[in-house]
Amino acid sequence: MGYIIVLASPVFLGLILIEWLWGMRLAKLGKTGAQTYRLDDAISSISLGVISQISAIFTRVLRIVIYTLVFEQVALVRDDAWWSTWYGALLALVLYDFCYYWFHRASHEVAWFWAGHAVHHQSQHYNLSTALRQSSSGALTSWVFYLPMALLGVPPLIFGIVALVDLLYQFWVHTEHIGRLGWFDRWFCSPSNHRVHHAVNDPYVDRNYGGIWVVWDRLFGSFQEEDPKEVCVYGTRTALNSWDPLWANMQMYASMLHDSWHAKRWRDKLMVFVRHPGWRPADVAQRFPLKAFDIQQFPAFAPVQTPAVQWWGGAWFVVLLSCSSAVLWFMDGMVWGEAATCVLGVTAGLWGVNAMLQNRLSPTMCAFVQAAALATAANACGWSDVYVLAKPLALLVLMFAAWQASAGMNGRAWLMAALALSFSGDVLLMGEGLFVPGLVAFLLAHLSYIQLFRKDAPWLHSRRAVAMAISVAAVVFVGLDQNGLPSELRVPVAAYVLVIATMAAQAWGRAKQLGSSASLWVALGSSVFMLSDTLLALDKFVSPLPYAGLWVLASYYVAQGLIVRGVSKTFDDHKNGAKILN
Ligand SMILES: [Zn+2]
Ligand SMILES: [Zn+2]
Repeated sequence: MGYIIVLASPVFLGLILIEWLWGMRLAKLGKTGAQTYRLDDAISSISLGVISQISAIFTRVLRIVIYTLVFEQVALVRDDAWWSTWYGALLALVLYDFCYYWFHRASHEVAWFWAGHAVHHQSQHYNLSTALRQSSSGALTSWVFYLPMALLGVPPLIFGIVALVDLLYQFWVHTEHIGRLGWFDRWFCSPSNHRVHHAVNDPYVDRNYGGIWVVWDRLFGSFQEEDPKEVCVYGTRTALNSWDPLWANMQMYASMLHDSWHAKRWRDKLMVFVRHPGWRPADVAQRFPLKAFDIQQFPAFAPVQTPAVQWWGGAWFVVLLSCSSAVLWFMDGMVWGEAATCVLGVTAGLWGVNAMLQNRLSPTMCAFVQAAALATAANACGWSDVYVLAKPLALLVLMFAAWQASAGMNGRAWLMAALALSFSGDVLLMGEGLFVPGLVAFLLAHLSYIQLFRKDAPWLHSRRAVAMAISVAAVVFVGLDQNGLPSELRVPVAAYVLVIATMAAQAWGRAKQLGSSASLWVALGSSVFMLSDTLLALDKFVSPLPYAGLWVLASYYVAQGLIVRGVSKTFDDHKNGAKILN
């Protein structure tokens, strides 16, 4: 399936480009609303499609293995040759589309399934890129709906082919440029009736579920024709307002878990998951009221970027698209852990591009995310030539980002010192037999961070944080000492553990003092730093961890990124506060 998606993707992207240019041309001729694209929205949608395709590696067992098992063990009739004829395959397609109808209907009418499917509907624009916008979690439960086909004896290969045909068919209907098509609209899923499906207008909600045939909707009472007087407004009623592909996948689960957690009655805790999306227990709705949906007040999410940021984002996006095609193409030949690492790397990269387009990351911080993802993947997969370049590069880019963001900041020298020392530590730890010098470099880096965190907060302000950090440090040190730490390293490692625990304690005390979300990121970053170093030590002294390179380096970059971003955001907030006061 990966191969076919890679081969089909130039066609998808080419058609998206044509639709874009076509909209641009019509807009130039003065037709209002003809341009149905926004660069950031399209990048966000395609990113979600990419992540959905590559993350399928994690749901393979559910999608393929269970179907095959049911087919082989309990199929009622077996006649593989019959299903391979054209009429057999056509019947399989009709059966698939029937199952798809019920899956899709459940995806809109049961909260748990909606949480998986909502991703496809979050875009407030409607164009061919919206078609690619797919959920990564839908596959966790969708397989159940297709088991009847396995029971009927549809062979897995035929099932896979018709599933692909059904999916590919639905691409072209996501456009506003094709109007109503007469009789076709009443038989088949078409641009007109699928626009209705994506709209949040009252008469259009929960209509037109069919994948290829919309006849199912007419049979089961869920059909609605497009009404020229009722112009479609697209999106989900609880707007996502974000380009973050990870959050897009989690949004609905998070709100369900929130409501379930806060509901008083056990019945309600459960009902949150199985009732219609949007249903809320009375006590929860009272405690956490939500604004009622009003189509008149439904502004499109539209952060503003400079053209430079758009070009930078576009360029990284093209690079990441190529990487994801390579991952999909070679996935089957890779060891599972390696493939999973590449999937996580591309996902992190796409997250970075989208975060920049939402103005959450600077262009340099976006580049840091890319370099860090590459270094981590290279380390975990053993691409040593790439690793020796990407690892120092990641920290250099981070230093540049920190330098740009901290002009005029109190403690800037300590921030730069911490990063320069981390850079030296990174380089030293790559060399053979340079573990102790590397350790010393990081020890000094942590001392610099401690100095930085003292600039705007009292010394070890939270006793609880000190107690926590020291306890964790003690457990880690005793654990290492009892399980293989060489005796000559006892003193340096003890000193190191003490210093990093102090850094975390200071950062949490600082967060308590400042009370801002940015200071919390710094505290979190410091704790992740402790985690990263603990993993490194466990791997080195106790026993090798599977894919240590992935966990150690990924957590290290998350820690450094959180600290730099948190510190510079605190500084930004401070500057903006000063501006308001003036
Ligand atoms: Zn839908
Ligand atoms: Zn759709």
